[in-house]
Amino acid sequence: MQQHFAENALVAVATTQPLDRLLDYRAPEGGCFQGAFVEVPLGPRKVQGVVWGPGKGDYDRSKIRQILRVLDVPPMRAEMQDFLRRCGAYTLTPLNNMLRLATRAPGLGDPPSMQKVYRAGQGAPERMTDARRRVMEAAAEMGGLSLTLRELAEAAGTSPQVVKGLLPSGAIVEEVSPRDTAYPYLDPQTPGKTLTDAQAAAAAQLQADQKAHRYATTLLRGVTGSGKTEVYLEAVAEALRQNRQALVMLPEIALSAEFLNRVEERFGARPAEWHSGLTMTERRRAWRMVAEGKAQLVVGARSALFLPFQNLGLIVVDEEHDSSYKQEDGVLYNARDMAVLRASLLDAQVVLASATPSLESWTNAQGGKYKLLELESRYGPALLPEMRAIDMRPDKLPANRWISTTLQAAARARIEAGEQVLFFLNRRGFAPVTLCRACGQQVGCNDCDARMVEHRFLNRLVCHQCGESQAIPEACPSCGVEGKLAPVGPGVERLAEEAAELFPNTRIAVLSSDLYGTARELKQQVQEIAEGGADIIIGTQLVAKGHNFPLLTLVGVIDADLGLQGSDLRAAERTFQLMRQVAGRAGRADKPGTALLQTYQPEHPVIRAILAGKEQEFWRAEADERRASGMPPFGRLAGIILSGPESAQLFDIGNTLARNDGVLREIDAQVFGPAPAPIARVRGRHRVRLLVKAPKGVALQNAISHWIAPLRLTGDTRIAVDIDPQSFF
Ligand code: ADP
Ligand code: ZN
Repeated sequence: MQQHFAENALVAVATTQPLDRLLDYRAPEGGCFQGAFVEVPLGPRKVQGVVWGPGKGDYDRSKIRQILRVLDVPPMRAEMQDFLRRCGAYTLTPLNNMLRLATRAPGLGDPPSMQKVYRAGQGAPERMTDARRRVMEAAAEMGGLSLTLRELAEAAGTSPQVVKGLLPSGAIVEEVSPRDTAYPYLDPQTPGKTLTDAQAAAAAQLQADQKAHRYATTLLRGVTGSGKTEVYLEAVAEALRQNRQALVMLPEIALSAEFLNRVEERFGARPAEWHSGLTMTERRRAWRMVAEGKAQLVVGARSALFLPFQNLGLIVVDEEHDSSYKQEDGVLYNARDMAVLRASLLDAQVVLASATPSLESWTNAQGGKYKLLELESRYGPALLPEMRAIDMRPDKLPANRWISTTLQAAARARIEAGEQVLFFLNRRGFAPVTLCRACGQQVGCNDCDARMVEHRFLNRLVCHQCGESQAIPEACPSCGVEGKLAPVGPGVERLAEEAAELFPNTRIAVLSSDLYGTARELKQQVQEIAEGGADIIIGTQLVAKGHNFPLLTLVGVIDADLGLQGSDLRAAERTFQLMRQVAGRAGRADKPGTALLQTYQPEHPVIRAILAGKEQEFWRAEADERRASGMPPFGRLAGIILSGPESAQLFDIGNTLARNDGVLREIDAQVFGPAPAPIARVRGRHRVRLLVKAPKGVALQNAISHWIAPLRLTGDTRIAVDIDPQSFF
């Protein structure tokens, strides 16, 4: 139990306000517990905060004000305070920003309240319209369940007025109910699938660890389709049997419809969800119910790690190598690594699942820091896809054509057999470059150092960096000559055009994140495709992640060389992971699959490792190279990003930092830079970057905070520290 403070006792309160310290207050009438969510006066305003501990008392006592009220939310647990503190120390993030991550729910201060909800009634309206019929159908589809006015109107695609118009006749009934309700019970006793011997052995190990109530991290490695999900659902079942909560994190939560169905199949009901696609109501409910222990399982994106679990026993990080676990703006944290931290503070268990682990996790498992469980073969008759390279050099494709004759022939055979084909190209839009044939200039973003990408479906040029878009101009913005702008290179939209020409009378679906207004639309499209709603799927990396397309038997990788260019430390690793994953999409059910990789460099070591399926060899070679150069995970890196309106000034600051590197040299760290950041200008702001490289095991964060502490930034200049950066150079 947390410490209780008597009325008027001095307490320290943490707020989300941009202050670099805790504030002292007097405990409210009736006292309060440590961790209590409270409302306090701050100047003329009222702000929310958390009672962090005893007050310091180094402030004039007579001026100390009283906490206004304690909010109707379970207090933050001491473990969560500890987690926020340590996560903040690791990422060099001030507490107020950490607290913001942990309180991302609307209406925390609201009283427990009732809301109006709507469901189907017995009546029939006098006059029937299309919109009314849709409302009644949407309500009927919910069975006896109720929706809020907005939810029902949205489901029916009408305005709230239409719903209200159905009340007098009793066709729709209005009731009041508590705003936040517990999630349906997930029954861990529902039997799961019969596991294979290998799966059962892995599941037994995870369950034994779960029963032990001790911290452990396990890397669960297995090819796509080997049953990793089945295995970790058994760990979830054990956590639930132990009355502990479980969290499953997925990289692209928008795509989790299939996963939610599997949870429902396994435990008889759907879990709580946490991701950016939630409505405010859903968000509030999830946060509260997690805090009250009335959500047994949460399926969420990376920010679910900061939910106020009461009794968390298990965190699964699925596709643990995925780069989307790293948050790249605001608080720069890696949810995978922070999951390990949080679990270690809770005596909880972490399961990292992947077919192609990150080099970090692979190394930790090799070194015994993590446990390792491996599933070697696919479940049932599903066979690993056969993988072959298509050497593009002899093929001599005509200009603006990207599908080789070999790939065309293979695709045609599959489509005729009633199977599905995927053309994979990791480039959104129509063409990556828009070039003026008169002056030779490329159309760039006005605010960024990025090229504008033509999106033909939208009929606009879009900056993939800042999201700015403009109508496709008639005249070149550089030279003003009209009618000379031409698309160069392929994007998925352009590939779809080529496919439509090559394969008339086939159904082609493009899966790209920008083509869907909402997560719901995307989910629906994925489902339709899985059920056979397309012959050819054209997709970006969106399709590489965790879906089942049972009819898919051929994957054609349009440009296997794409990831190999550039000098990113992780380029080889990423290419390897992505290609293996995409290939893993083929032949999941009872039809063997084939993956064909179009490449201009079939002899490249990464391409050869992918084709040979020699994963251990690939990782060992990568590891040797990184060890030799002292790069992660064998050394440590931190990025320092300076941003501001003027480039020269940023370089001045950067040079000053680089010259005064005494504290860094004390820990044998080196500074590189300043240099323009990989994207040197974003939204009109310049970005300059320094890179700090240090040996493993030194107090890097501590040294960096001392190093940058003397900086006095003026005006609009900002500094951000990125510990363990994912992408650089
Ligand atoms: P992974 O997570 O490794 O990609 P999944 O757990 O998704 O693998 O399994 C792939 C497919 O095989 C799924 O449709 C799953 O339901 C099925 N499957 C795996 N193991 C079993 C089993 N023991 N019994 C029945 N179906 C299984
Ligand atoms: Zn831009």
